[in-house]
Amino acid sequence: MLARSLPSFACAVGISCDEVVPWGGHSTTRFAFSIWISLAHVMPYDMLCNHGVSPSCVKGIYDKHIRAALRFRSGVLYNNRLAHRYKFKDSDVCSLCPDRDSAVHLLLKCGHPRMRSMVIARHNQAVRAIAKAIANGKKGGCYMVMDAGPLDDVRNSVSTTIAGTRLPDWMLPHLTDKVRMKMRPDILIVPNIKNEVCFPDSDGDRAALGEVIILEIGYCNDTKYAEKLEQKMEQHAELRKHLKAAGWTDIWMVAMALGISGCVFIDLRHQLVDFAELLSHTEYDRLGYKLHRLALTWMYNIICTRRQLEHQEKTKPHGRASEEVT
Ligand SMILES: [Zn+2]
Repeated sequence: MLARSLPSFACAVGISCDEVVPWGGHSTTRFAFSIWISLAHVMPYDMLCNHGVSPSCVKGIYDKHIRAALRFRSGVLYNNRLAHRYKFKDSDVCSLCPDRDSAVHLLLKCGHPRMRSMVIARHNQAVRAIAKAIANGKKGGCYMVMDAGPLDDVRNSVSTTIAGTRLPDWMLPHLTDKVRMKMRPDILIVPNIKNEVCFPDSDGDRAALGEVIILEIGYCNDTKYAEKLEQKMEQHAELRKHLKAAGWTDIWMVAMALGISGCVFIDLRHQLVDFAELLSHTEYDRLGYKLHRLALTWMYNIICTRRQLEHQEKTKPHGRASEEVT
């Protein structure tokens, strides 16, 4: 199996250029790989960058997933923009939506309903994996709400102790339901409320409980993770302001960026283990590998779906692709 036999990232580059990448050896490919090599130190779980990853940790990751990630990371994942650059296509517009195509567009931004639903499902699955690790971790049993699909689904897949999918009124009593419902963090935890025994009903009660942890998770272009983290940190500025006004004293914002080609950055450990103290190092290790596997498998599945939809478009009697040809 390729994934288990990669001795190093340099070898991965060689395999990529020789076997995987149709335009291997092009300067774009070498430039793209130089970026990944510079990022290797912040991706301890990455099978493509770190040869120390144990085979027992890579269950569920196959050659097809690694090859797809290598194509993306070497800048040659087939898309219309690339095809247009190499004069295989007249247009660089996406085959499925009106926007300009690219590898990042394909994996993250395509407006086709089926592609959008897959991107949302990938995000929800990552949120659930993180919530499940927290629920089973050292702060398990704390009050937790999460916005990652219907309540019954999250209770079945994460924990029966999940309180809801929206913020409760006792948390922000000064706001109308309409305003409160618009504030939807991926996960919100009140560490000092356990097992829903009692809820605060005054600003003083909320100040006594003190702490609220907000977690926001987002997939991004792997090489743009610093920008994504910054964006996620800003996302709930209004919610944090209202929580302060309602009496909560310590509001922690935990932003997490996950790469679309499988990167799980070291910041995630710092955020969950050292900063928010939600997981132990061992608990985080399990989560890190799981997130890496989820991202790689979703990447492969999204690419397959795009190819199927493109094929359907081409074979439609009056489809867009056939109009372009005629
Ligand atoms: Zn598109």
